[in-house]
Amino acid sequence: MCGIVGAVADRNVPGILLEGLQRLEYRGYDSAGLAVVRAGQGGFDLRRKVGKVRQLADDVAEHPAHGRIGIAHTRWATHGAPSEANAHPHISNDRVCLVHNGIIENHEALRAELTGLGYRFRSETDTEVIVHLIDHYHAAGRSLLDAVRETLTRLEGAYAIAVIAADDPERIIAARMGSPLVIGVGIGENFLASDPLALRPVTDRFVFLEEGDLVELTRDSIAIWDRAGKRVERPVEKLQLGRDDGDRGNYRHFMQKEIHQQPAVIRHTLEGRLSRTRVLEEAFGIGARAILDRARQVTLVACGTSFYAASVARYWIEELAGVPC
Ligand code: GLU
Repeated sequence: MCGIVGAVADRNVPGILLEGLQRLEYRGYDSAGLAVVRAGQGGFDLRRKVGKVRQLADDVAEHPAHGRIGIAHTRWATHGAPSEANAHPHISNDRVCLVHNGIIENHEALRAELTGLGYRFRSETDTEVIVHLIDHYHAAGRSLLDAVRETLTRLEGAYAIAVIAADDPERIIAARMGSPLVIGVGIGENFLASDPLALRPVTDRFVFLEEGDLVELTRDSIAIWDRAGKRVERPVEKLQLGRDDGDRGNYRHFMQKEIHQQPAVIRHTLEGRLSRTRVLEEAFGIGARAILDRARQVTLVACGTSFYAASVARYWIEELAGVPC
């Protein structure tokens, strides 16, 4: 599933963000974007492209972006078609900028509330409510950290988010619930990403966040609060990321390796697509809910091993969904 990269450093970060996104490409996505707080001038430099990370990288190569703090994203659209306007990061009032993986279930109610407060929406995403809510609380005088903390209490659904503010270009605030997020620990610089793999060129030390964690990241500090709001220390783990997927590892053969990979593969596939009680319909793509509601019959097309899997799935679909399969 899609991904997030963030960096706060004493050097230019767009190159680190782009490299990170490229390393997350295996997760699948339809568009990509990044934003940095403009070095010296303030405000955000926002770049977004439908299609490949390569296109985003070409754009940055042609018109270089400069900033020491930034966030980046590959999107797998769930609400609103893949388009530049729907791609992340999203910005509120040129003050707060955010990337999000996951699905916000109560986005319609929040959208109505924020529209009433005068916020204008520029995308069809569920995500945009998060950035406006944070801006709302931040503009009312709360620190960026407290504004994010307050916002999280309003969200239902799954998320990993990373947030930066134009008036506070020293820190990234991040949080996770139902979508993965790790901190990459550097020397005089810190990073975050959906997968340690994204940060391999810049560090081998990681802090794995737990469900409900909230984080404040500066160049030289990492502060974490757990879901109960208690300040916690999480261990820094040194990772050897030498092996890749083409390697049989300690398994006797590749089939054995694949069998053992199944729990992790299912976990990755469902990340950010689960609510507390069910798989969210949007996980199957834009408009999936309407299509599923209308479905009178399901046909599975498969051969070989997938035929056997489909033969089992047929019983489950008929039993659970009550439609002929
Ligand atoms: N639900 C969000 C959107 O459609 C985030 C999708 C993702 O996880 O990439 O923009």
